[in-house]
Amino acid sequence: MTQASQTMTTPTPLRTIRPRRPRQQRPTTLHDLTLAELEQRLVAQGHQPYRARQLFHWAYQQLALDYHAMTVLPKALRQHLAETLPLTTLQLTRTVTSDDGETEKLLFRTVDGEHVETVLMCYPDRTTVCVSCQVGCAVGCAFCATGMTGLIRNLSAGEIVSQVVYAARLARERGRTLTNIVVMGMGEPFQNYDATMKAIAILHDPAGFGLGARRITLSTSGLVPFIDRLAEEPYQVKLAISLHAPNDTLRSQLVPINRRYPIAELLAACRRYVAKTGRRISFEYVLIRDVNDQDHHAEALARLLHGLLCHVNLIPLNPTPAAPHLARPTPDRIARFAAILHRHGIPATVRYSRGVDIAAACGQLRAQADAEAAIAATSSTDQHA
Ligand code: SAH
Ligand code: SF4
Repeated sequence: MTQASQTMTTPTPLRTIRPRRPRQQRPTTLHDLTLAELEQRLVAQGHQPYRARQLFHWAYQQLALDYHAMTVLPKALRQHLAETLPLTTLQLTRTVTSDDGETEKLLFRTVDGEHVETVLMCYPDRTTVCVSCQVGCAVGCAFCATGMTGLIRNLSAGEIVSQVVYAARLARERGRTLTNIVVMGMGEPFQNYDATMKAIAILHDPAGFGLGARRITLSTSGLVPFIDRLAEEPYQVKLAISLHAPNDTLRSQLVPINRRYPIAELLAACRRYVAKTGRRISFEYVLIRDVNDQDHHAEALARLLHGLLCHVNLIPLNPTPAAPHLARPTPDRIARFAAILHRHGIPATVRYSRGVDIAAACGQLRAQADAEAAIAATSSTDQHA
């Protein structure tokens, strides 16, 4: 560990003081239902089961967000659905573009007034959406804007699916087809496992969106029992592990869940996962200046990953006001870190985050929106006082 990392202090959480909102009940939406559940629901209401497939086609292939566009369905059914089963509860409130239009950040408002972020990223060979699975996150990593507020609540399967549908519509407007999903937005997917897996099942269904499971990546801070559980799932989704440090002292500072599931246990689970699935694991390593970016960290990382079927994504820190004392290493240091891994035969790629100029670091746009909402609420309270 470097001097800097020894003296690193835990950042003061930037908690946004928000007015209390009454708990609002969230209705079930079409995006919450698997094809089987939708069929069951329709049959129970006296409709033909094949209507479920028609709805899936319209919702996920035509990307309709309004039943009235589904002209193949009888008007009475459309009316009934509009009254009893909203398509989505997410409201798109803002889009911000960067990287010459190649990255677009979407900000949603949930029915209970929370903010959710999604990012659409257009590459020459693919179009990827990065979705959130929670509002906030309980893990509290030292460099992450999402973790600073703690967990507000889990997103439902429908709220996860809706983000993909909105992003797919936006991609379509640009003449592109959505090809990949990464669950790397706000939240820890393994702390909202059931809803995340249900969303994947819905998006995977060939009657609807039909996205191949290999085009879906889940990123986790390392909840060991769920790595084993994922290995048993029928879906061949890709797994990414946020490692960020090669020793327990440093990792526990950066990724507090390491105190519960230390590196040896985490890597043992990764080895079991590779043995069981034959699938390669990606390790994410956010490079932070003078904290985890030294030669000896790279050497230790190479030793740790030796012999494991894996790939390392080196992500230069996206600076965030949530952790103002943490900085991105120089390009030379980043290149040197990557070179050491390569010398040891560890495949590694440097990946700069998309949309740095639009607050693309995990949770930043939401933090802004929450702060704005808090200011608006305070000023309206002032006015009414
Ligand atoms: N909770 C999951 C997935 C969401 S975070 C996880 O931690 O893996 C997705 C990725 O963004 C993680 O690798 C995380 O470490 C990274 N990340 C968070 N804040 C970042 C920042 N400020 N700069 C660069 N990457 C960041
Ligand atoms: Fe949560 Fe991931 Fe952010 Fe850590 S990096 S606080 S696990 S969202």
